[in-house]
Amino acid sequence: ILDDEEGGVLFCSAPPAAASSSSSAFGYASIEQQRQRLPVYKYRTAILYLVESHSTSIIVGETGSGKTTQIPQYLKEAGWVDGGRIIACTQPRRLAVQTVASRVAEEMGVKLGQEVGYTIRFEDFTNENLSALAAQGVTRIKFLSDGVLLREMMDDPLLSKYSVIMVDEAHERSISTDILLGLLKKIQRRRPELRLIISSATIEAKSMANFFQNSKRRRGVESEGHGMKVEPAILSVEGRGFNVQMFYVAEPVPDYLQAAVSTVLSINEQEPMGDMLVFLTGQDDIDTAVQLLTEEAQKNGKPSSDLMVLPLYSGLSCGDQDLVFSLTPRGKRKVVISTNIADTSLTLEGVVYVVDSGFSKQRFYNPITDIENLVVTPISKASARQRAGRAGRVRPGKCYRLYTEEFYLNEMAADGIPEMQRSNLVSCVIQLKALGIDNILGFDWPSSPSPESMVRALEVLYSLGVVDDDPKLTSPAGFQDPMISKMILASNKLGCSEEIITIAAILSVQSIWVSVRGLKELDEAKLRFAAAEGDHVTFLIMYRGFIQSDKSPKWCHKNFINYQAMKKVIEVREQLRRIAQWLGIALKSSGSDTQVVRRAVTAGFFANACRLEAYSHGGMYKTVRSSQEVYIHPSSVLFRLVQLSSLINILLY
Ligand code: ADP
Ligand code: MG
Repeated sequence: ILDDEEGGVLFCSAPPAAASSSSSAFGYASIEQQRQRLPVYKYRTAILYLVESHSTSIIVGETGSGKTTQIPQYLKEAGWVDGGRIIACTQPRRLAVQTVASRVAEEMGVKLGQEVGYTIRFEDFTNENLSALAAQGVTRIKFLSDGVLLREMMDDPLLSKYSVIMVDEAHERSISTDILLGLLKKIQRRRPELRLIISSATIEAKSMANFFQNSKRRRGVESEGHGMKVEPAILSVEGRGFNVQMFYVAEPVPDYLQAAVSTVLSINEQEPMGDMLVFLTGQDDIDTAVQLLTEEAQKNGKPSSDLMVLPLYSGLSCGDQDLVFSLTPRGKRKVVISTNIADTSLTLEGVVYVVDSGFSKQRFYNPITDIENLVVTPISKASARQRAGRAGRVRPGKCYRLYTEEFYLNEMAADGIPEMQRSNLVSCVIQLKALGIDNILGFDWPSSPSPESMVRALEVLYSLGVVDDDPKLTSPAGFQDPMISKMILASNKLGCSEEIITIAAILSVQSIWVSVRGLKELDEAKLRFAAAEGDHVTFLIMYRGFIQSDKSPKWCHKNFINYQAMKKVIEVREQLRRIAQWLGIALKSSGSDTQVVRRAVTAGFFANACRLEAYSHGGMYKTVRSSQEVYIHPSSVLFRLVQLSSLINILLY
């Protein structure tokens, strides 16, 4: 279909797989009309009946069918918020929480943060002030990340203010979702009136149903008296996806980023109007692709000048986020380049072409070496199907897979691996401990983590002094990450808590660098702040610069620093300071003494210590705990310094 000239990519078409149904695009329908045209609308009564009569309902429906935005509204309309109760809807991704909450507020014609609100870590946009005067705008539908709901259990173990909890995107199988499912099952035994909705785009609904059923049978919970069935109900919402024509590359592509860029350009030249959605793996990839395409679009006289190229990943500024979801201007073609967040969590209207790299970035943890890597790995077939489906929302679409059909059929796994089974479990264990779950190895998981990973995690927590012999939690979990907690506690004795709190705040935001404007300049900007003592001290120098500039956006721009991220750092830092004070930590600055700062960092992160291998000119280190080979990451300020020193080594010897 696309020709192979100028380094383009050759595709072969495959017979269409999905059946189509007919329905017209939205046009300019009123919000009410739009709501009624969604596939879930036909199931409104059925859903409300199931929730009324079953303690757990499992709802499966294609992305865009209206699960997330509609079901909470149906519940509210049916009276599930009466008597001051609240409906919760959890999401594994922060960005999705914000976006769906603001969409639902818009649909209901209310101000975000009042009747419809959201909470993610470090950001609370709800009104739970129940005084009579404020009763008007009190939050009734609350979107939150599943991690935040877990934290709420610390203050309110039975989550008593919620009437219905909808665990959305359950197929993502994030660690927090899995912990949440395990705990909600326990809560249900104490609060039989609580209703659970488990919803997802693709789910092994049966195994999820078994998970909720087994225990109840085993432990013999009675449902009588509440008139409710304990067997979970399963409802499948039939979508109205359009046909998506599939294309595969004829030969494996050597570089999926280049292939994605040239595919976008060819689609733009050869295919009728319609937006594109491109799946790459992470911020770096995406920023590079955006840059390449933007440069292309700016070349005058080229047909690609009508391209509007936008990135989509978590950690994006609000302005950039809004652009992605806004209507495409007339005569323009939107190209959204995304991580797998657009697989199922978010709905983009108007997408007709999908370009799928076939990869995503996933965490993999090896409990033997105790090393966690972010690895670019092939996605699963389930995920590939989800991605393709994004092209058939408004009219028949096309999906260009940058891998061969043979690869899809024979190499891709049917489903992904739950995050629980491929992660370091330190923060998972500490969360459970903080919630008073002491028999961690015996916890009832939707899918069990490996015992090795559990034991490793307990070991680390023990050596940090966070759990004692029992093993019970020794101190209140004021800070979420045990290594960061330890670092802050150590700074108390060393007299550098102000500096360490700054570092902790910076570590909690995704990246404080802007990376869109070219790697070379970014490198130079980094070197301007680089301290030979490493990244943590470099962070301090940057932070001081930012404060001295009077928190100026201009200063950030000049230095390739992400202004939004720095604003977040200031906010998080304030919160950490309050927690520290509450824990009795003296707020002290060590001035220019960076040695104590490094000692505090080491106290927290000693488990990651490595030794430089003598005579290794490549700057190879080995971890102290397991002698695993490791190298300095290219994003570290030390990367350049190490390169320089190994060059000197080579020259000298
Ligand atoms: P699901 O959860 O089943 O994937 P959603 O409830 O998220 O579906 O979306 C249902 C519909 O609501 C979408 O098909 C789209 O038409 C509309 N929608 C959702 N989010 C937005 C948004 N941010 N902007 C515009 N329309 C949206
Ligand atoms: Mg959804």
